[in-house]
Amino acid sequence: MIQLYIPLGFLGVIYREIKQSLTDLDRMFGLLEQSREVQDQPGATALRVPAEGAGVVFDAVDFAYHPSRPILQGVSFEIPPGRTVAVVGPSGSGKSTLARLLYRFYDVDAGHIRIAGQELREVTQDSVRQAIGIVPQDTVLFNDSIGYNIAYGRPGASQAEVEEAARAARIHGFIAALPQGYDTPVGERGLKLSGGEKQRVAIARTLLKNPPILIFDEATSALDSANERAIQAELHSAAAGKTALVIAHRLSTIADAHQILVMEAGRIVERGHHTELLALNGVYARMWALQQSHEGA
Ligand code: ATP
Repeated sequence: MIQLYIPLGFLGVIYREIKQSLTDLDRMFGLLEQSREVQDQPGATALRVPAEGAGVVFDAVDFAYHPSRPILQGVSFEIPPGRTVAVVGPSGSGKSTLARLLYRFYDVDAGHIRIAGQELREVTQDSVRQAIGIVPQDTVLFNDSIGYNIAYGRPGASQAEVEEAARAARIHGFIAALPQGYDTPVGERGLKLSGGEKQRVAIARTLLKNPPILIFDEATSALDSANERAIQAELHSAAAGKTALVIAHRLSTIADAHQILVMEAGRIVERGHHTELLALNGVYARMWALQQSHEGA
């Protein structure tokens, strides 16, 4: 008789791995199902962006990924054309969800989101995504040349335009110094970029796209402070004249936003300029004091 001796600990590992991948699959299907819900209405027209820019309005927005667990509740705010609104709050408070709804990965359950006065549900998804540039936390780079990775922002852009965007994002010098320059492959077997360099590629991509609305999801992984300040400066110039939603993890980077929204458990609990919020002596003031003491340490 053949006997199999498999250490029980090993089985435990396998079980956990299978369980995790089933959970991941489940999540993936959940996501696919949800994104299928977001479909253009019959006769949806393209978003019209006026020359003076596009304002963004969230009006009493409720949203849940799953009906049993409300995430956003009664969220209202406005970003006038060309202005920057920053969102802060603890992890899981719903900051990135605002960005996902604005990009229309999902439709709201109640309330309205409007861009330039037009209801998001009533315009085509394509036109919304054309109007918005995203600099995500973690930029996905394609297994292709670094030049391609920037040009992706606007298919058909000329090499000169790609380089101009890279210059503005302060990544041109770095690329030009590589032996293969813009043809350098990135990815698995190619060039490995640091978090800051990847964000610069994303900024260059977005500058090339030149959308009227910008979403910047600040990286959670801390960059060193010199790098952070430099990226902020580049972002600042990218956002000039654009309507911007900045999801911030470090308060020092958004002290000059036109308005700061403080979120807790899916609601906006405070709003105002940096100095107004400090004077409130509430959630924001406590977060600020905490970060200052960490940075001091
Ligand atoms: P962080 O600062 O950590 O990025 P956040 O404030 O951006 O957090 P969100 O990503 O908006 O938070 O998430 C808000 C809540 O929604 C969290 O509780 C999260 O677990 C949940 N959530 C996010 N994405 C999904 C999803 N695809 N399906 C189900 N729940 C989700």
